[in-house]
Amino acid sequence: MGEDFESSDNGSDREMHKAKCSDCGADCEVPFKPTEGKPVRCLDCFRKNRPANRGPRRFGNSNGGSRGNFNRGPREMHDAKCAECGKDCQVPFKPSGDKPVLCGDCYRKTKGFA
Ligand SMILES: [Zn+2]
Ligand SMILES: [Zn+2]
Repeated sequence: MGEDFESSDNGSDREMHKAKCSDCGADCEVPFKPTEGKPVRCLDCFRKNRPANRGPRRFGNSNGGSRGNFNRGPREMHDAKCAECGKDCQVPFKPSGDKPVLCGDCYRKTKGFA
């Protein structure tokens, strides 16, 4: 056995508890009381399971590159009937009964010639 853990006992006021890594099974010590049923990981496995070191936070390239590249996603469309021509159409808003819904064509017409 070549267990050469750093046995620096200077200022070790932290109580360590013996535990067994639930990942690799290695004996290790943890600075908290291992709870039964809760997995304990040795330092190696703990590091492995952590997301990669991100380092300093980066804020992407602000104000740069492709503008308007927002992910709009599909807009929710609602079935409606055009109050003008009676055509079935879809509108990006919820048709409220008291307001006439116009299909794209009629909407353009009314807007254009109003
Ligand atoms: Zn481990
Ligand atoms: Zn219409």
